[in-house]
Amino acid sequence: MRFREDLRVRRGRFDRAGVEVHAAAFLRRRELMLHAELRDSPRELSRILVHELFHFAWLRLGNTRRDSWMHLLRKELDLGARGELGWSAEWRKRRSPSPGSLAFREYACESFCDSGACFYSLAGRHPEFTLKRRFRDRRRAWFRDFLETSGVRL
Ligand SMILES: [Zn+2]
Repeated sequence: MRFREDLRVRRGRFDRAGVEVHAAAFLRRRELMLHAELRDSPRELSRILVHELFHFAWLRLGNTRRDSWMHLLRKELDLGARGELGWSAEWRKRRSPSPGSLAFREYACESFCDSGACFYSLAGRHPEFTLKRRFRDRRRAWFRDFLETSGVRL
């Protein structure tokens, strides 16, 4: 894990001509880069770091658990749930990806990471946490079950 003063990515790679981001996880290289300005905001650093760490978890989650998470999201959408637990999931959700599509899987991945960051970082309250409490509680229960059955204690 490294901090960089100028963190820009394009097509999943570090690129000086790319878009500036807070963080980037290079999963296959097991490398995480964080924007240096986050060092001045411990709570935001925590939220973004935990989000990125959950990307590594999503990669190793297995299809059964990934399907279970996507099932939970489809139920939320059926019930008209709006809002999310981070901008990364929010903008993908607003594009209304159809279940089964690659865009939906990307949305599912980002909502998994944003949810993990909401529940397990030091962020506390955050303006990007806009998902209603009853849906948030269901996701929290899903994560509790996931971590318990994985033998992980946080
Ligand atoms: Zn992400």
